[in-house]
Amino acid sequence: MKRLQNKVAIITGASRGIGRAIAELFAAQGARVVINYKSNRQAAQQTLTRLAKDSQAIAIQADIASSAGRKHLLQAALDEFGQFDILVNNAGILHFSDFIEYSENDFDALMATNSKAPFFLCQDFAKQIIQQKTAASIINISSMCAFRTSAYPIESYEMSKAALTMLSKSLANSLAKHHIRVNTISPGIIKTDINRANWESNSHEWQETMRCIPQAHAGEGKDVAAAALYLATDDARYTTGADIIIDGGLTSYFPV
Ligand code: NAP
Repeated sequence: MKRLQNKVAIITGASRGIGRAIAELFAAQGARVVINYKSNRQAAQQTLTRLAKDSQAIAIQADIASSAGRKHLLQAALDEFGQFDILVNNAGILHFSDFIEYSENDFDALMATNSKAPFFLCQDFAKQIIQQKTAASIINISSMCAFRTSAYPIESYEMSKAALTMLSKSLANSLAKHHIRVNTISPGIIKTDINRANWESNSHEWQETMRCIPQAHAGEGKDVAAAALYLATDDARYTTGADIIIDGGLTSYFPV
């Protein structure tokens, strides 16, 4: 028996990286999958072709940083599959920029994608679940940066992820009465496009970071996907407001 049979999962930012790995695993476990992306249509099509052969899935272009984009995503998902069961707020952006030089426009764009979008997607998703009178799972892909600072200049990203982690705990509380569980996953360093420049250049900071990981290497999208699958299934029926750290031991290690 597949573990997500008859479930509909919406995954933001599933054209690449961690979101793609989650889409692949969820589809392999029988979920009907909604693959959201912002602009990289080709990558979204590649995700579709990588899904298990008998999968039911659609790719939906929508910029979740905008209210219109979020409405379009959820309506298109509902039109296609008629219900929601799982929401994975995965899409995120990262700016490497010196704090002193960082612009307000960049700050607003990052917060709109990483913090504001999950807030309102959770709200609209919850409205539909309340109407459906079913149970549901929300999984927010946060980061170890929600609770640890980095060698890289990414202050706005760290702030956005702290907000997302706290939002998840707040919603675990307020949505429990509607049978909606809300949890976070906090990845450490996962090799994707978001940090490609760092691992491709094998920069000094990258090497320093690898030295601080007890398992001594970066993770892969499928390491995060495995935790997402657990949180999506009824195996996690008594788990809400929790955070699963997937970091090869990085955040529990003090390098002296
Ligand atoms: P990635 O490879 O850069 O992929 C980002 C995905 O998000 C793409 O599918 C992109 O769509 C989508 N996206 C970005 N802005 C969007 C928007 N406004 N609307 C809709 N989709 C949007 O990133 P990743 O490494 O897989 O990261 C996924 C999540 O994990 C992020 O929230 C990130 O902060 C978090 N995370 C990653 C790491 C890591 O080391 N990789 C560590 C901790 C946390 P397009 O393809 O159309 O651009």
